[in-house]
Order: sequence, then structure tokens, then C-alpha cells
Amino acid sequence: MRISVIGCGYLGAVHAASMATLGHEVVAVDVDPVKIGQLAAGQAPFFEPGLPETLGEALASGRIEFTTDTARVAGARVHFLAVGTPQGPTGAADMTHVDAAVTDLLPHLAPGDLVVGKSTVPVGTAARLAERVREVQPEATLVWNPEFLREGFAVQDTVAPDRFVYGVPAGEAGARAVAVLDEVYAQALAAGIPRLVVDLPTSELVKISANAFLATKISFINAMAEIAEVAGADVTALADAIGHDDRIGRKFLNAGLGFGGGCLPKDIRAFQARADELGVGQSLGFLAEVDAINLRRRAHVVTLAGELLGGSVEGRRVAVLGLAFKPNSDDVRDSPALDIAARLVELGASVRAYDPAANHTAARVRPEVATVDSAGEALRDADLVLVLTEWAEFRELDPRVVAELVAAPVVLDGRNCLDRDAWTAAGFTVRGMGR
Ligand code: NAD
Repeated sequence: MRISVIGCGYLGAVHAASMATLGHEVVAVDVDPVKIGQLAAGQAPFFEPGLPETLGEALASGRIEFTTDTARVAGARVHFLAVGTPQGPTGAADMTHVDAAVTDLLPHLAPGDLVVGKSTVPVGTAARLAERVREVQPEATLVWNPEFLREGFAVQDTVAPDRFVYGVPAGEAGARAVAVLDEVYAQALAAGIPRLVVDLPTSELVKISANAFLATKISFINAMAEIAEVAGADVTALADAIGHDDRIGRKFLNAGLGFGGGCLPKDIRAFQARADELGVGQSLGFLAEVDAINLRRRAHVVTLAGELLGGSVEGRRVAVLGLAFKPNSDDVRDSPALDIAARLVELGASVRAYDPAANHTAARVRPEVATVDSAGEALRDADLVLVLTEWAEFRELDPRVVAELVAAPVVLDGRNCLDRDAWTAAGFTVRGMGR
């Protein structure tokens, strides 16, 4: 099938390349000529495991074209909208990119075309955009197919997600849309991946409520971490124990620095803003608390760093291991690790930071945080070691080797990811989160 993908960021680039490897003919569009140039040359514009291989395979098949010219989408039957929906100044989602992408797409729509929204949007957006499509091309249909991919596992999550959700209009147009999407995802569906067909607003809410739930789960365990710290309890043991209950589950119950990235923080704020607009703001009042607990984690780490350094970080050498918001990603959007590193610099600490993938993205937004090329360089002569992103490389550090490098054997494990016993045995004072 000939398809287009509009927006080639973390979502769109992976989606476009994956669709081509599944046998579809893909036109992938972005307004950023640099990104398009990189993708066309087979270079992933960001770090994502498996993307270089998938992109290479897609380009070698001759089934993918990258372009900045939206007119190239003419002739495609399905158009995926994958542009960004960042946080606007009031906390609500900034819909500028989605609206601009639809404006660019409209003149090229043909009867029978399907416009498929994948971006995370405020509930009601699909109905609004469907109206815009109908005005220009009454025989085209707009549906919503929210994306649930996790950065770090994006390729796998795109070709084999936990489930597909199709938000479609009622009636014959909806039934036709389901059949077309089933054709797009035929291989995954044949493998038994569930697919749920719902109405448009439900599909928008499925995505944003899933993220609200995940954010709540993380903030819940971080609230328990706050209590555990003053009560002398261990939040990791607590999470293990409550996680055995199937109704709770152990996933997303790791206390630490809290969540960040380009999705959860902005999504919970946009969800709250939309609920306010709909006059049901109080239904989501708890999300303000989820956000507040989350942001307290960052301040807490900065305070702990000062305590571990005897009262102040000023003039002290701090090794920061990890800047990305999560491992296996170079994404530093709203990254707790980078935020903490920048706060320490502001307080006068001499920070040397290292991330296996995110040094360059961090330098773009926080040039004041000095980065080095290896963990060893960051650790040399450090008065304090902070582990802020749980990369395997940091979990696997040999504490006896680290002890030889640092000036003082003190580590703050912001992700509770180190082997405490091994680090203690190597002579370290080990401070975890909520334990
Ligand atoms: P991103 O910022 O990485 O990518 C967005 C891309 O859209 C950019 O390359 C930008 O240049 C391009 N763009 C902007 N305006 C355009 C236009 N008018 N025409 C063509 N291209 C345009 O964002 P992302 O992380 O890929 O997120 C995209 C959407 O997917 C968001 O709504 C996000 O919430 C959602 N989402 C993201 C993830 C994730 O893990 N990143 C997961 C699920 C859903």
C-alpha cells in the first residue's frame, strides 16, 4: 500500500521506516530539511536501538522516500500524522504543528483517502480535524490511531505493539477505515496482536489516560519513597512486595528521580488543561499532585548532593552519570538528570557529566553542563558520584575500579540501579532513593 507519514521525529521516523520494511511504499515528510537529509542518507537523526538497521533496510528496498515537499504525498491512500504536540505556554498542548500539517495535506487528498492521526492530542481534536477534512474532501475519512511506543524500544513497539487502537467514525466510512488499517497492520494482526475499535474521542482518551496512569504509578512509588526515607524503610523492598499483587504489578514502581521525556510531563499537563476547558478540571485534580511529587524528586536529589558533600556543592567536583531522561535514548526533553546537573552547576558545583548517547543533545539545551567522553573521565577526582540515568554501562561499573578514580567514595544512586552491597564492599558510602 502507498502511505505517507507526516512528521519524522521519534515517532514518525520509526513509523515510516518500519512501514517500508513491512512492504508498504512510504513517502515520509518533515519540515526540517536537515532531518530529511540525514534520513535519506540512512542516518538516524536520534539514538534509537534498531532504527539504523530498519532505516537501512527500508532504503535498500527502494520503498521509502524522504522529502520536505508535502505534494509528494499525492497518490498515497493512507496519511499518518506524526508531528509533535509540545507543551504550550499555559500547559495545554500546542496544536500549531498538527494544524499546519493538516493544512499542508488537505490540497493533496483524494476521494477514499484515510487520514490517520498518531500524535497525542487533546480529546476533541479528531472531531475538529475530521470537519476540516470533510470540508475539502468529503470522500476522505479521518481516524485516530494513537501511538504507544516507548523510546528505546520504538522499532519493536511499532511493528509489534501490545495493542492497536483505532478511533473511527460510525457507519460505513468507519468500517472502511478499519479494513484499510487492518491491511496496513496485516502482519502484526496475523500474529495475534489485539486491536480495539472505538469512537474518535475514546481513542484520544485511551492514549492520554494511559500516560496519566503511568505517571501516577511512578509518582505513587516516589511518594512512598518520601515516606520510606523518614520512616527508615526501603521503598524497593516495598515495591517488590506490593508488586507481587497482580492487581498492582511490579512495573513502573521504581522509585528514583521521577519521570521526564517528551511525553509524560507534557501529557499530564495537557490532559489537565483540556479537562479544565471541558469544565471537569476537578476530575484530574490529582494530576497536579502527580506532577508536584515528580518535580520534588529533582529538588530532593540536589539537597541530598549538598548533604553528602557536607553542606554545600559549591566548588565541589561532581561526576554526573547519565543525562538522557531514560536509558537507551538520547532524548533530554524534560530530563530529570539534565535538570539536576544544570541545578548543580547553578549552585557552583564543578560538574563533569557523561551519557553514552545524550552528550550532544544535552549540550544543545544546557551548554553550561560540561560533558566528557567516558564515565572514567567524569569520575576522575570526583568528590561525589551521581547516577542519574540507569544505563547498563553504569549498572555494570566495577565499584573497585571506580574507587581508584574518585577523590571520595560517595555515590548517590538516583535510580536505585546499583548493586549496593558491591559498592559498599568497595568502600563507598551509598545513598539510594527512598531506602
Ligand atoms: P518530535 O518532536 O521528535 O517530532 C515531530 C516532528 O514533526 C519533527 O521532526 C518536526 O520537524 C516535524 N514537524 C513539525 N511540524 C511539521 C509539519 N507541519 N509538517 C511536517 N513535519 C512537521 O516528536 P515525537 O516525539 O516524534 O512526537 C510526535 C507525537 O507523537 C507527539 O504528539 C507525541 O506526544 C506522540 N508520541 C511520542 C512518543 C515518543 O516516545 N516520542 C510516543 C507516543 C506518542
